Amino acid sequence: MSIANTPERRQLRELTRAFVTREVLPHLDDWERAGEVPRALHATAAKLGLLGIGFPESVGGSGGDLLDSIIVTEELIRAGGSSGLVAALFTHGIALPHMVAAAGARTGGSLGGRLTGASSPGDDSLIERYVRPTLAGTMIGALAITEPDGGSDVAAIRTTAIRDGDHYVVNGSKTYITSGHRADFVTTAVCTDFPGSGELTLLVIDKDSPGFTVGRRLEKLGWHCSDTAELSFVDVRVPVTNRIGAENTGFLAIMQHFAAERLSLATQAYATAQRCVELAVRWCRDRETFGRPLVGRQVVRHRLAEMHTRAEAARSYVHEVAARVAAGEPVVTEVAMAKNVAVAACDHVVDQALQLHGGFGYLRDAEVERHYRDARILGIGGGTTEIMNEIIAKGMGL
Ligand SMILES: Cc1cc2nc3c(=O)[nH]c(=O)nc-3n(C[C@H](O)[C@H](O)[C@H](O)COP(=O)(O)OP(=O)(O)OC[C@H]3O[C@@H](n4cnc5c(N)ncnc54)[C@H](O)[C@@H]3O)c2cc1C
Repeated sequence: MSIANTPERRQLRELTRAFVTREVLPHLDDWERAGEVPRALHATAAKLGLLGIGFPESVGGSGGDLLDSIIVTEELIRAGGSSGLVAALFTHGIALPHMVAAAGARTGGSLGGRLTGASSPGDDSLIERYVRPTLAGTMIGALAITEPDGGSDVAAIRTTAIRDGDHYVVNGSKTYITSGHRADFVTTAVCTDFPGSGELTLLVIDKDSPGFTVGRRLEKLGWHCSDTAELSFVDVRVPVTNRIGAENTGFLAIMQHFAAERLSLATQAYATAQRCVELAVRWCRDRETFGRPLVGRQVVRHRLAEMHTRAEAARSYVHEVAARVAAGEPVVTEVAMAKNVAVAACDHVVDQALQLHGGFGYLRDAEVERHYRDARILGIGGGTTEIMNEIIAKGMGL
């Protein structure tokens, strides 16, 4: 039996599918127009235990490992949701793991599995103040790494945090921050030395801190139900107790948790592809041209077969790599390959699926149109396809 198909994981799929059918599908178009998902959705998902998947019960999570998180992500999309929905509702998947790891909590070696260095005086209180309420669906968090000057070169971060007694004084700006408008707190990468020195630290910054402003809502090609923000920090005083782990351990912490984020994006990619194959098959059975259903033509059947093959191959490889990450194997190169394989499969499938829908595929009424737009970010966020190739080349010794 596949590790993704155990009785427990089948139950998890059913739970997620029921959540999407009941709580998401009737409203998703409205949320796409509104530019965000409602806070109440977080509480509903939390009550079902979905928000806490992949986080240990000791910090308010539901337990489970990286594969369980992957099952939830996969089913959120395959049941008719979208990668934009995953980005908006599961932003905590990138905002919290550093705090969980720094506090020493274990998640079976997946989302927050490794300690990131010496602890900070506030690490335990961060669990109570931010992690538990977020997993309970009463707070929303975001992760801010990218800056207007660049995102790929994480070490070049220019937002500074200068120590002043028992506070840091933060100055700088961030951009493209998922859930940045709705977030109550932002896990923020700052530089504790001169800008660009690479000495990074993670601070949790409260939305209502004086000097912290959330800028305009960024309008995007896709992910419309996921709000994306610019953030500005002018002399923002952040208590030292809001530091995650020791000073200057931020770069390592960010890199360690990129594995889970990249595998989540890879999952969103192959699940979007799987969903689009389903939509295309349904359409090609129903749509008749020249007196026959589209699926009656060999050229169409072969196109669908190729789309299905690419989606399934990507799924299988992502699951294999996720299982190795969950087992604690150092598979940085494989994670990068998994992301690129899944994104390539997705890019091909969304394009072909839209084409098979003809003119209808280009309309807002068509679900495939949303997936086509949403898919484009998957090769950019969490490290671009080019940066993944850099990692793969390094792994090859090049
Ligand atoms: C919708 C959305 C949501 C996002 N959410 C978040 C979030 O929540 N938090 C966050 O911190 N960031 C977030 N991001 C930012 C995202 O992670 C960055 O956009 C991404 O890392 C790329 O950084 P950049 O845009 O600065 O591109 P750049 O780093 O400027 O790169 C530009 C281009 O150059 C290529 N390139 C760069 N370096 C090299 C190289 N050495 N060799 C070859 N090619 C290279 C890149 O691949 C890319 O094609 C989000 C972005 C979007 C659009």
